[in-house]
Amino acid sequence: MKKVRARYAPSPTGLLHIGNARTALFNYLFARHHGGDFIIRIEDTDTARNVPGGEESQLKYLKWLGMSWDEGPDIGGQYGPYHQLKRLDLYQEYAQKLLDMGLAYKEYKEGSDKFAVRFKVPENMVYTFNDLIRGKLEFQSKEIEDWIILKENGIPTYNFAVVIDDHFMEITHVFRGEEHITNTPKQLMVYDAFGWDYPEFGHMTIIVNEQKKKLSKRDTSTLQFIGDYERLGYLPEAMINFLALLGFAPDKEILSHDELIEVFDEHRLSKAPSYFDRQKLAFINSQYLKKLDDATMKTFLIPFLKDANIEIKNDVWLTNLISVLRDRLDYGAQIVEYYHTFFRDEFEISEEAKQELNQFDRMQTMNLVETLLTKIQSLSFDDATEIESLIKDLGKELGIKGKALFMPIRIATTGEAHGPSLPVSMLLLGKDVITKRLNETIKVMKEQTV
Ligand code: GLU
Repeated sequence: MKKVRARYAPSPTGLLHIGNARTALFNYLFARHHGGDFIIRIEDTDTARNVPGGEESQLKYLKWLGMSWDEGPDIGGQYGPYHQLKRLDLYQEYAQKLLDMGLAYKEYKEGSDKFAVRFKVPENMVYTFNDLIRGKLEFQSKEIEDWIILKENGIPTYNFAVVIDDHFMEITHVFRGEEHITNTPKQLMVYDAFGWDYPEFGHMTIIVNEQKKKLSKRDTSTLQFIGDYERLGYLPEAMINFLALLGFAPDKEILSHDELIEVFDEHRLSKAPSYFDRQKLAFINSQYLKKLDDATMKTFLIPFLKDANIEIKNDVWLTNLISVLRDRLDYGAQIVEYYHTFFRDEFEISEEAKQELNQFDRMQTMNLVETLLTKIQSLSFDDATEIESLIKDLGKELGIKGKALFMPIRIATTGEAHGPSLPVSMLLLGKDVITKRLNETIKVMKEQTV
């Protein structure tokens, strides 16, 4: 078998979005799975739509996602150049060949010696190919009009340039969006005209949003750009994992970069639209976040706190804060939200927590909270073990154990029935806040009519 060569051929008309990234990823995974080459080619012939910085952003975020390529605009390669605008001579030469063979014709602009070149669509031809995802597809040439391959300004159209490039770059497989299915017969007629072999094509399913509508760049209800997710604190490992599941169904959901390469199987690409499920993305990201060690997590979270002007008191404080909040995070920026909830001024006991509180003996709990309030006044609040011992001693003194001891204290200090280490949470909250909240709890309990 020929060495596999797959490519990602973006038009630099915008930033890297979900759909582009998924296209790049499937070509990348396919190439790597088969030990082949992955190539990036910039299709910049639609000059009016090129945006400054579009190419850089594409490459930057592909790298961020963990993809690497063997040839491309930034690193070159033996099949270059990798920008279509740098290959105009080649397209012009091959357009001329079609003219010479009588398979294309010139179309002059009125009153000018400038001309476009149109491909002469053969009559009564049937174009077929075996799509790797959709099976056999068939098109009648009579449904296709003669089409422009080279514009008056000497720049080729996409359907022509793509064939010249895929041929000369020896591309063996093309995975791309299903919007290109109807372009394929035009491309096949160019391959036929030159007697070249087709690459294998696989047209991927569309991606739909929560309203089941095709994800479009104009849709603002879904964050579309990979950069948006980076800024919110999604990890590249989670993003690439999630993107791979948009139209590919492996046996398990959480897969590393290397595992994705190993299990990638073009036979398991779906024909049905793939649903862009933010909740699933959040879940996957939370799984990867949980795996980060504390030091990495700290480095990762500091910028979010700083951006929100949250004062990092000292390193121990930060370590404690992160240990208390880290396991709740779906994405990095959420630390800010949880920080504010944790330290909120308006102390409120959640409904769930109130019900939990009611299961304990009221007088005993009231006594516990009041005694705690008195005792913490003499604590230094320098470290969590001091608080831990105080709670234990209090339990012995009052004859309260286990849940009946810890749950009311947790609720009275954090407002919630569940959470991470109670002494560390209390240490972070500090004496003043704890005092205020205990007083508040006592008030609430007194107001409750039994
Ligand atoms: N430049 C085209 C696009 O961005 C590439 C299509 C193809 O892969 O052939 O849609």
